[in-house]
Amino acid sequence: MSAFVWPEANPGFVSEISPPEDVESAWHFVFVGNEIAQRFDQNGQWLPFTEADAAMIAGLDHVSHYMGRIGDRHCFAVDAKALQDVPVSGLRSLFGHTDNLMFGLASRAVQVVEWYRTHQFCGRCGGRNREHDRDRAMVCDDCGIHAYPRLSPSMIVLIHRDNQVLLARNHRFPEGMYSTLAGFVEPGESVEETIRREVKEEVGVNVHNLEYQGSQSWPFPNSLMLGYLAEYESGDIVLQEDEIADAAWFDGDNLPSIPGKVAISRWLIDLWLSRRGLPVEP
Ligand SMILES: [Zn+2]
Repeated sequence: MSAFVWPEANPGFVSEISPPEDVESAWHFVFVGNEIAQRFDQNGQWLPFTEADAAMIAGLDHVSHYMGRIGDRHCFAVDAKALQDVPVSGLRSLFGHTDNLMFGLASRAVQVVEWYRTHQFCGRCGGRNREHDRDRAMVCDDCGIHAYPRLSPSMIVLIHRDNQVLLARNHRFPEGMYSTLAGFVEPGESVEETIRREVKEEVGVNVHNLEYQGSQSWPFPNSLMLGYLAEYESGDIVLQEDEIADAAWFDGDNLPSIPGKVAISRWLIDLWLSRRGLPVEP
């Protein structure tokens, strides 16, 4: 049995704003709206467009944003008005068909194109924005405000008690699937306060001994998920019924259907299993 290692989201990636003059090797993450172009290899693994597709991309009505590079490979987020002959679908279509690096880049790309698309005008004075020369920011020259890509901090927490974890399912989950609890940080709150508030609201219990474990960019639409383990303190499960369809304690060696390996919810579960000396699926 191997101990769980928290995944790195962007191994080897260097974030930059301006592309070099000559791009020999490239990955293009192409979106129509917030849906990503669907191309897969023969093993069902999702593929970005590459330098071989440069002419096709140039022929699109599109905006391209340079994101940075991995070694000599340059990464672009492409916002296209339409795509011919290639279907598009939401980013969840990549689950199970890609690794953490590629999902992390696609996550970055969709947030960059959405930010740029929705910040053409100043939110304060209505002036026309322009791109900042050196930063990923939109600038209003009329009033001086800068608009950076927006992130919404959120907490995600695995509640544990001895050999059990508390997992819940909301009404939108696939049949039978349970996961950890999550929620957005409100203005003025610390993440720890969010955790205690959301856990109490959603499942009625109190938690303590919060332990931060790591984070993940979660592009639905722009969360930064801060992952915690929390120990159960007191209270019985009481569901917030408009959000939570069911919640229950599960033994570590008898878990229900849980999210796949690309999600931070799964990393928290695997981390806890590993700590308890229970088997972690490779
Ligand atoms: Zn302005």
